Amino acid sequence: MTQVLVLFDHLDAELTGAQKELLTLASTLGQVSVVTGEASPGDQVAVDGVGTVYVPQETILAPDAGLVDLVQAAVEQAQADVVLGSDMVDSVDVLARLAVRIDAGLITGAVSISGTTVTKSVLAGSYITTAQPIDGPLIATVRPNSVQAETAVGHAPQITVLPVAPSSSVEVLERSVLPTSGRPPLTEARVVVAAGRGVEGDLNLVEQLADELGAAVGASRVATDAGWVDHSAQVGQTGVIVSPQLYISVGISGAIQQKAGMQTAETIVAINKDEDAAVFEIADFGVVGDLNEVLPQAIEEIRRRRG
Ligand SMILES: Cc1cc2nc3c(=O)[nH]c(=O)nc-3n(C[C@H](O)[C@H](O)[C@H](O)COP(=O)(O)OP(=O)(O)OC[C@H]3O[C@@H](n4cnc5c(N)ncnc54)[C@H](O)[C@@H]3O)c2cc1C
Repeated sequence: MTQVLVLFDHLDAELTGAQKELLTLASTLGQVSVVTGEASPGDQVAVDGVGTVYVPQETILAPDAGLVDLVQAAVEQAQADVVLGSDMVDSVDVLARLAVRIDAGLITGAVSISGTTVTKSVLAGSYITTAQPIDGPLIATVRPNSVQAETAVGHAPQITVLPVAPSSSVEVLERSVLPTSGRPPLTEARVVVAAGRGVEGDLNLVEQLADELGAAVGASRVATDAGWVDHSAQVGQTGVIVSPQLYISVGISGAIQQKAGMQTAETIVAINKDEDAAVFEIADFGVVGDLNEVLPQAIEEIRRRRG
């Protein structure tokens, strides 16, 4: 049977949506095991279908290069045919280094995998390509929101401690948890409300709409460069790529560099006062109007329908 090893580059008290998606996808490919740098994982890894969890002797956190040693040891131990990680910087970093070490390839940005065939969405969502490993195991990173996560609580998996320690070449001096907004992480959110120059520095309405919808707040580069929104919220070519079920673009013109980060969203709603704005070329629904008039009505209607 195909052995599938899933990398969790970090482990919180609960699995993230992206981690559940990885397990769901992995279970369609073969027998699933997990490797994580957390030395003492808890109940969160007791997921139906996960047989073994490989851990180090001492916790190893990204960007410690010891994570590569750990994953390599787990690949050997599990005799993995497939290695999956999330398409986020830490996992891509670890798996790229692993690929070099074991003389294999790495396929990033996967949106689905069947057997050893990986489907990718490329060139800002304009093309779909398929790829296969030529030699060695299939190593791929999967974009969040590509798979419908379906995991169930299972028996506690077997924990296998591998003789791997943190790298001595890097010392992490301090870690601090970023303040959270209570909203879902941008790259994993099923709904994103994004603000552009049109909001003129006032995020109030965009945040209200986001909170009504349980959405993450994204932004154009103009909005982040102006300091209205943190840079981590920038969507686009030089920001993050999102693929939510619903992307609501507010006061954003739809430049090619913005589209590069959001046009694979399942449904795009654009609110812009300029009917010729480029964003309407890719929008499924468009509202031509002033966001200061449109958003309060949308928020009120959502609240009314919720009763
Ligand atoms: C190398 C490079 C990389 C880049 N990377 C990125 C990237 O990653 N992400 C990104 O977003 N951009 C990126 N850009 C910048 C990009 O080219 C655009 O300049 C930027 O996306 C424009 O942001 P915007 O749509 O918010 O602003 P504008 O283009 O100024 O558009 C503002 C829009 O708001 C509308 N509007 C104004 N007032 C209202 C109102 N009251 N109600 C409704 N609508 C209103 C206007 O009609 C207009 O369409 C990059 C550029 C370069 C050169």
